[in-house]
Amino acid sequence: MPRLYDSRKRILVTGGAGFLGSHLIDRLLKMGHEVLCIDNLFTGTKQNIEHLHAHPRFEFMRHDVTFPLYLEVDEIYNLACPASPIHYQHDPVQTTKTSVHGAINMLGLAKRLKCRILQASTSEVYGDPAVHPQTEEYWGNVNPIGPRSCYDEGKRCAETLFFDYHRQHGLAIKVARIFNTYGPRMHPSDGRVVSNFIVQALKGQPITLYGDGSQTRSFCYVDDLIEGLVLLMSSPDSVTGPINLGNPTEFTMRELADLVLAEAGLSSPVVTLPLPQDDPRQRQPDIKLAAQLLGWVPAMPLREGLRPTIAYFRSQIS
Ligand code: NAD
Ligand code: UDP
Ligand code: UDP
Repeated sequence: MPRLYDSRKRILVTGGAGFLGSHLIDRLLKMGHEVLCIDNLFTGTKQNIEHLHAHPRFEFMRHDVTFPLYLEVDEIYNLACPASPIHYQHDPVQTTKTSVHGAINMLGLAKRLKCRILQASTSEVYGDPAVHPQTEEYWGNVNPIGPRSCYDEGKRCAETLFFDYHRQHGLAIKVARIFNTYGPRMHPSDGRVVSNFIVQALKGQPITLYGDGSQTRSFCYVDDLIEGLVLLMSSPDSVTGPINLGNPTEFTMRELADLVLAEAGLSSPVVTLPLPQDDPRQRQPDIKLAAQLLGWVPAMPLREGLRPTIAYFRSQIS
């Protein structure tokens, strides 16, 4: 429903040309807000936001969050950071800089403007978890020196910075720990399991299952996730997070392969490849806190969410 003019905000979304950022922007514009998207287009694309070019309340600026940014906004969603292992491992030093320097700059901006700031953190802060499902109290099991560390430790340090700005400067912060999310506008070659399996199925290529395929993940449809982010941002100041956002229904990667093939109506052979280093065995969010504090629960079952996702990739491939 359109908001009244006096409740319209000017909102900054960093990483807004990416998968989640572009959906968040669609949602914020629908709510009647003005949106400023900044992105260095490292993994995001202009195609994700091209439908917004003529929108009167949308603005795009090419900018790298590791550099300071001076402008005036009412709220900040900090999403800028490559999210898939092949992308964040491409230039690991830049990944840590994006998480850490990016957080410092956006927190400095929020401090000067005295505005709310939300951090897109990740389930990766739990590493290869020894506690299952993961609650927000769990401190995690992260390798500090492995190939995933630039992302995991970068995001952990960003959380530290958010809570120190909160304690030291009284900043209104929101930290969302996002679990695996999928949907249209995922990067087709980001190497993530959902995009890989769908693209392989559509191209008639073998489905690449890493390890024995018994490792688990829980997949959240993008619309559900965006709803959670918006609810978190609008929650009272006392709700800082960290708060898990994800779909708790757990699948093995073998089950996912079968589901993708069934929903795509295709058959491809499944081949097994070695499991990457530090690949977490299992991951499932405990979302009691989000349900209690935000009244949020994801609505879209994986089977149903795969349909628009497969349709999107089909349109990209053709
Ligand atoms: P994405 O790669 O599609 O989007 C990230 C965006 O950030 C891209 O548009 C990229 O160009 C931009 N970016 C990267 N470095 C930047 C920099 N230095 N300056 C400015 N822009 C920069 O990934 P996504 O899946 O949309 O993820 C968005 C956020 O959500 C990320 O912070 C990610 O860590 C977090 N997250 C995503 C998931 C998921 O399943 N998709 C899970 C957990 C956390
Ligand atoms: N910063 C920014 N935009 C602003 C305010 C600050 O990009 O509007 C950056 C600035 O580069 C600074 C960082 O945010 O290095 C942290 O700001 P803060 O005020 O916390 O620290 P200080 O400037 O005291 O180092
Ligand atoms: N995976 C797989 N085949 C692929 C890509 C990934 O079996 O082609 C597995 C991967 O080893 C991991 C799971 O799927 O166990 C999820 O991987 P993804 O990179 O999507 O996310 P993350 O590991 O960050 O949760």
